[in-house]
Amino acid sequence: MKAQEIYRDALWPGGLACVGCGCASHGQSLCDDCRHLLAECAPEGPLCPLCGHPLTEEPCPFCGGETLLLSRAAWRHRGLARELVLSLKNGRAACADPLGEGMAEAARELPLTDKTVVTWVTMPTERWRERAYDHAQLLAQAVGERLGLPCLQLISRTEGAGLRHQVGLNREERLRNLRGSFFCQKQLAVPVLLVDDVTTTGSTGRLCAEALTEAGAERVMLVTATQA
Ligand SMILES: [Zn+2]
Ligand SMILES: [Zn+2]
Repeated sequence: MKAQEIYRDALWPGGLACVGCGCASHGQSLCDDCRHLLAECAPEGPLCPLCGHPLTEEPCPFCGGETLLLSRAAWRHRGLARELVLSLKNGRAACADPLGEGMAEAARELPLTDKTVVTWVTMPTERWRERAYDHAQLLAQAVGERLGLPCLQLISRTEGAGLRHQVGLNREERLRNLRGSFFCQKQLAVPVLLVDDVTTTGSTGRLCAEALTEAGAERVMLVTATQA
């Protein structure tokens, strides 16, 4: 733990300091100055119209210009945006507010309609117990509120599946780890905006999109806080 963090936690227990600079932020996760600095983490340059990753060459090196899952991320997974996501996952629920604001902004680039329902990549129950809340649900609620769209749990997870942490696995191993672990029990006939914290290989989003499409979703779109 850095000296600054020890000082901050001693002065403002319960995380009442700004995640960015450590100043007294009166219960907000970011002070006004740091909220402005978040923009520095936004994706730069031309973005792939499909997957939303920076388009460094044609076709898009990330999705090959072929993905069916239209995606947008509010920020790159770095700096203050990364800090906010980590703090949200570490129990600072108020971080969902500035994150949700940027994500709703990013989601406005997607073809949303007033019938669109917002949902999230549900966390495995075992991990939910460790944390007391599902951070992706908080993000989905924040996004839904800002877009004026309903937020409903549509994705369920098979117990015991996908529990191995995804970190350190290659793309194939991730898919094998996750396949079959997401399903949707509801009958859908509306577009769905799927919400998650971070997108890395995009495999989680694709598997959830498959489950939602199978359940009848008209179209599935994805918005995340950051893209790695
Ligand atoms: Zn600050
Ligand atoms: Zn792409």
